[in-house]
Amino acid sequence: RKMLIDGEVNQTTEEQTHYDFDLFVIGAGSGGVRAARFSAGYGAKVGICELPFHPISSEVIGGVGGTCVIRGCVPKKILVYGASFGGELEDARNYGWDLNEKIEFNWKKLLHKKTEEISRLNGIYKRMLANAGVKLLEGEGKIVRPNEVEVTQLDGTKLSYSAKHILIATGSRAQRLPIPGQELGITSDEALSLEEFPKRAIILGAGYIAVEFASIWRGMGATVDLFFRKELPLRGFDDEMRSVVARNLEARGINLHPKTNFSKLIKTADGIKVITEHGEEFTADVVLFAIGRAPNTKRLNLSAVGVETDEIGAIKVDEYSRTSVPSIWAVGDVTNRINLTPVALMEGTCFAKTVFDGKPSKPDYSYVPCAVFSIPPLSVVGLSEEQAIEQVNGELLIFTSTFNPMKNTVSGRQEKTVMKLIVEAETDKVLGAAMCGPDAPEIMQGIAVALKCGATKAQFDSTVGIHPSAAEEFVTMR
Ligand code: NDP
Repeated sequence: RKMLIDGEVNQTTEEQTHYDFDLFVIGAGSGGVRAARFSAGYGAKVGICELPFHPISSEVIGGVGGTCVIRGCVPKKILVYGASFGGELEDARNYGWDLNEKIEFNWKKLLHKKTEEISRLNGIYKRMLANAGVKLLEGEGKIVRPNEVEVTQLDGTKLSYSAKHILIATGSRAQRLPIPGQELGITSDEALSLEEFPKRAIILGAGYIAVEFASIWRGMGATVDLFFRKELPLRGFDDEMRSVVARNLEARGINLHPKTNFSKLIKTADGIKVITEHGEEFTADVVLFAIGRAPNTKRLNLSAVGVETDEIGAIKVDEYSRTSVPSIWAVGDVTNRINLTPVALMEGTCFAKTVFDGKPSKPDYSYVPCAVFSIPPLSVVGLSEEQAIEQVNGELLIFTSTFNPMKNTVSGRQEKTVMKLIVEAETDKVLGAAMCGPDAPEIMQGIAVALKCGATKAQFDSTVGIHPSAAEEFVTMR
């Protein structure tokens, strides 16, 4: 095998035999598993460590599959599906469905099904590693030297392994607001496995998780109060689309409290009381902190081995995901680049190619699409209008389409779908696209391919639509 970057070439087989592994990965989430499997596929001897996963205990943070599979994207999406039936049932009436019988939502049943599915996926991930020839070691990893990792098992046993390369893929962890009573609140880790359904929920935050959980709990029938510091949620997204999401959340019955933060939480006989910084009081069964996640680096012993981190603890890496210590690399949320599963997969793939396939590969962060799984969802790719104004010198053309989706004409739901294209006038190139409405993430994936290929507005216009669909609006905006 050859290392072709930074002048390190032609590592001999003799050298490699000095190590227990060619690669040792700390953390078996999306990025770590991808890097481990692909590196093994290129012939590397690979070990990976991860804490064991307990399906119903939130005490042990771990599990092969990582945040996305165990306590993130996947269980969240299952809950979004579950919550969506609430609105679907309302919509069904005008479509001729008599729903006279009492229809009840059973949280425990959904939780059980969700846990079953997560356990199944955890098993699949373990089998994928085994089939790729990757050795899984259950325990917490810590770097003791640039080529040595110590794994502490749950019973306290410490095992030591040497590796030519070490990859850190330990992800990130949900944060709580440092205020009195913060321990009374929960994070998304617990929110995905609550024993009792929260009939009254209070959420603090303005990002993906806050908006998604507001939709989930409201869709299942809870009273939901969403608090955030700014005028609108989802800072960083297109302002117009942020307003659309806020309007939809309110129309679905979520109480929005802009420009409000918490000062303290208190346990009362009636639940958990939130006191806001304006002195108002609100009580709920559950208070969720969804104010961002921090890189999981505290227990890795990084400063002792010379791995540099930034002010929030994220590992500093170069374009190939290499840290300040040449034998140590890092991918995924722990590096705080774009914190999304598919991005961690891309970084893991590039790492394996660079280090074990002799093909230096840099992750490409252009046109990374993403979705907020609110109900209805928001999905975007490329630049927002505000980013385009800031980054593009010439004139911009903004196309917006606001329409009543066909399904609503009969169901009677008052909720518009909004689509947007940001075009550079001089080149006619589409720089950004956004949609808030049913199926937005499914539609946006195809639009992302077009933008990645450099599509122009004229090419959008010359594409024939699929009729009748919401997606066809993207090729008929004038
Ligand atoms: P985000 O980083 O998306 O948003 C958190 C928001 O909380 C901030 O934008 C900020 O909004 C607000 N906030 C931050 N600090 C405070 C504070 N001290 N007091 C009050 N509000 C605060 O975090 P999430 O927790 O929603 O998600 C974490 C990560 O998980 C994201 O990076 C995302 O990439 C990923 N994720 C992706 C999903 C998806 O792809 N669908 C789903 C869920 C998570 P403001 O500054 O405007 O006040």
